[in-house]
Amino acid sequence: MLFQIIPQDDPLQALRLRRFFMAMAMYAFCAFLVYLSCLANIMDWRAIFVFLVGIPLINLTLYIVFRTGLNLRFTDPSLTSLQLSIGIVVTTYAMYYANEARGVLLLIYILVFIFGIFRLNTRQFLYISAFCLLTYGTNIILMHIFRPDKVNFHIEYLQWGVLSLVLVAFSVMAGYISALRQKLSTSRAELEKSFSIIREMAIRDDLTGFYNRRHLSELIEYERNRCSRGGSVFCLAMLDIDHFKNINDMYGHQAGDQTLKTFAAIIRETLRSTDFCGRYGGEEFLIVLTQTNIDGAKVFAERLRRLIEKKVFPELGDDIIITASLGLTQYQPKEDVEKTIHRADTALYEAKKKGRNRVECCA
Ligand code: GH3
Ligand code: MG
Ligand code: MG
Repeated sequence: MLFQIIPQDDPLQALRLRRFFMAMAMYAFCAFLVYLSCLANIMDWRAIFVFLVGIPLINLTLYIVFRTGLNLRFTDPSLTSLQLSIGIVVTTYAMYYANEARGVLLLIYILVFIFGIFRLNTRQFLYISAFCLLTYGTNIILMHIFRPDKVNFHIEYLQWGVLSLVLVAFSVMAGYISALRQKLSTSRAELEKSFSIIREMAIRDDLTGFYNRRHLSELIEYERNRCSRGGSVFCLAMLDIDHFKNINDMYGHQAGDQTLKTFAAIIRETLRSTDFCGRYGGEEFLIVLTQTNIDGAKVFAERLRRLIEKKVFPELGDDIIITASLGLTQYQPKEDVEKTIHRADTALYEAKKKGRNRVECCA
């Protein structure tokens, strides 16, 4: 397979790498500015070394870490704190050689901090701020030792003070934004979860878990359109439990409910993955057998009828036999689904009339 600079199979890793490349582009732009500053003699040429050697090496290592997935072993796979710390050290290195331009480069710190906005909380921002102030403080000490004649230290102290103020304020505000974003994504996830629960509730029957009548009608309509386009056929099987009223009367409504659940389980086990079923009425189920003609439907219905007949319903006692009647029909091209359903209903009525516990067809 062709090597991809940003892998497409993992969206999160791809996002991390996109941000990484954005940071690289910033480094490249900074390097260009430093180069111009050196040309203009406001910066020492040594400042450019870190961009020519340090940054390419560090970024190559980081890229390998991201591409091999090594970053996933850390609590923050974006390695935000590490990348920010590198940015701070690089900026401070350039500042050391920047002479009067040092104050302007303080802005780069803010640019580095902006990269943390989506990840870090206030406490983490404060740690990075402390690291930044420490690095800049060390810079001042080094300048004291090695190039005291080139630096106005009063300005440096003022800059350090202003930097402290800005970074603390930034940490608080950015942490607030980060928390807000976190809260937003949590509520969005909760909303999506609630939405899918509501959707399930809207299309399914509570007791049996099968589709409700309204959603079933939509699915049958969809199946009808699919058949019209593809020239295939489907069958409907209307199932009604025999003498169900007696079960309620003799064992109570709760036992009746439990029997309905057991019925649903038997049907579910018998269905192929492409078929589907809905609770059409109280103790009536409508089964849709996709890509099945009437002969196939007969085999299915007879198998289901026999399974039901043999099933033991523990909630009713071991010697009680429950049966069901089934009415079958095949969808006729171009006809209205209401018509197909009506034919299945007629076939079911016929099965009841002929003594129940049987399968009847209506062509
Ligand atoms: P048949 O063989 O002619 O179908 O007789 P039947 O007693 O099953 O027919 P009928 O339609 O007269 O009775 C259906 C019964 O189903 C009536 C109702 O009390 C019961 N029923 C409908 N929905 C539920 C339900 O959700 N739970 C329970 N426990 N019973 C239900
Ligand atoms: Mg019944
Ligand atoms: Mg009924």
